[in-house]
Amino acid sequence: MGHGNTDTGETATDSATRRLAELHAYFRGHPVNGPEGHSYTRLGGHATSASPGLPYNERVADHIRTSVTEIVTHTRTANPDAGLPERIADVYDWAREHTQHAPEDVQFRRDVLEYRHRLEHAVQAGDASVVRPHRCPACRTVGLHWQTDRQRAVCVNLHCAKGNNGISRSWTLGRLALEHVAREKSLRECAT
Ligand SMILES: [Zn+2]
Repeated sequence: MGHGNTDTGETATDSATRRLAELHAYFRGHPVNGPEGHSYTRLGGHATSASPGLPYNERVADHIRTSVTEIVTHTRTANPDAGLPERIADVYDWAREHTQHAPEDVQFRRDVLEYRHRLEHAVQAGDASVVRPHRCPACRTVGLHWQTDRQRAVCVNLHCAKGNNGISRSWTLGRLALEHVAREKSLRECAT
């Protein structure tokens, strides 16, 4: 899905797979302790506002584990014969391969999951620029502002806030992913 240029800046080379690889490289490049630079157990680094209790690397390791578990669970629920991906880096290709004949709603959820992960991996690696090109689901303007502490994308359009009792609307990455994949799907259906 979605491997053309779109208004959200997604290109053939920007995918959940690439973002996961980058995050993994980033993670390994910021060693906490230990010769391998990715000890999960020894504490170090610094806490972040997103997860104040966790040192940085632990949070990234946790994020990678959670993401992989999520996609594996979704795939195996749809296809109990899927087995397991050989490498973490293969998880999205593996998921697509083993759900390619699944019902449409399963494939839709897989695409939303993969797209959300692409956003999450980027944000976790410190690149929140992936959020900005999305349109606010309420007012449809571009220019969402990522708030790390709330883990939400905030619409900075004043007219949008006016219609919401003066409070800026904010969205989860899951909601933005859902909007994006649904829109791509309807564009594809229009084109055929
Ligand atoms: Zn808005």
